Amino acid sequence: MSVFTHPEFDNHQHLSFHCDPKTGLRAIIAVHNTSRGPALGGCRMFPYSSDDEALTDVLRLSRGMTYKSALANLDLGGGKSVIIGNPREHKTEELLESMGRFLESLGGLYIAAEDSGTSVPDLKVMGRHTSHVAGISSRPGFDGKPSSGDPSPATAYGTFVGIQSAVKHKLGRTDVNDLEGLTVAVQGIGNVGYRLARHLTDAGAKVSVFDIHQDYVERAVEELGATAVSAEDILFLPVDVLAPCAMGAVLNDESIPRLQAPIVAGAANNQLSRASHDQSLWQRGILYAPDFVINAGGIIDIHYERIGADPAIVRKHVESIGDTLDEIFTRSARDERPTGEIANQLAEERFEHHHNHQPVGASNPG
Ligand code: NAD
Repeated sequence: MSVFTHPEFDNHQHLSFHCDPKTGLRAIIAVHNTSRGPALGGCRMFPYSSDDEALTDVLRLSRGMTYKSALANLDLGGGKSVIIGNPREHKTEELLESMGRFLESLGGLYIAAEDSGTSVPDLKVMGRHTSHVAGISSRPGFDGKPSSGDPSPATAYGTFVGIQSAVKHKLGRTDVNDLEGLTVAVQGIGNVGYRLARHLTDAGAKVSVFDIHQDYVERAVEELGATAVSAEDILFLPVDVLAPCAMGAVLNDESIPRLQAPIVAGAANNQLSRASHDQSLWQRGILYAPDFVINAGGIIDIHYERIGADPAIVRKHVESIGDTLDEIFTRSARDERPTGEIANQLAEERFEHHHNHQPVGASNPG
């Protein structure tokens, strides 16, 4: 396993490995870039088949957070952590407490939030030993409803706003508050996907869904009037928008040639199997809303949890995802370049030229 020459290393600023035999904790914290502020990103627990797989994942995710926060205009850097293990078998209170001490040892360089395999209660256990955890406070949410700290509602709303922007650019619809007649396929109707499907149906769209959990499918059919489709069909329906909201790498050599939707806009992280698939989508004339732009609602919400703000301010900031996508889509059409490439460029402009650099680690970011 190489580190500095790892293909995903990309000049990471800091990388920490931690092993605690007493609790079985084996974890990595990756901090990609803190030029805009302390690195904030999820703590993922996953049964990686090798150390190399865990390292690759944490490096990719951490870099992605730098880009996501820069594009969301947040004073945050990019970081991520992974715990190697099966959350259903290996997650114990002692292990989570040990992770809390590991977070504390970095002195605020990195702040952890929920991710796949970790939950609000898990972060609270880590928080017994550190203040460098986020996404855990009960408060009025961005929509004025009570929130447990779960960022999913804000992510779903930001994704909805992003779909409105894509629909305007690709389909020429002018009144995007009325989505009557629009058809959308949502893959994965968990925390984000279900809420997104609700926003869409409330606005008049017709939604098709698939999830590996049948009860989730039934809920969407009963409550939202969604149409249930098969695992094989969900990506390839002749709909206006495909919204991947389950796992990553769904846009790949096999799937892209078979897509029928003119727009791909969903919340899942790392939708492109390889960076070059951005180009493949562009060549097929499919408008792709880069995942790290459209799914930034959650990080925006968590940011305001840390600093405190009126829900209306949070909502407005989440809605700015639509403006950022408008800019990306416009530049992409003008320069005849894929949207992911434009988004990366825009993010680099924002984090490389950020002048409000605050030294991190010296103070307690909360
Ligand atoms: P979740 O676990 O609540 O929902 C994911 C859903 O996908 C689950 O219902 C699961 O059963 C389903 N699923 C898994 N494999 C599937 C498959 N092969 N086909 C169809 N469905 C499948 O997670 P979530 O919080 O809703 O997140 C969804 C995606 O959005 C993830 O990729 C996540 O990384 C990303 N994301 C989430 C947030 C957030 O605030 N929760 C923020 C940014 C990005």
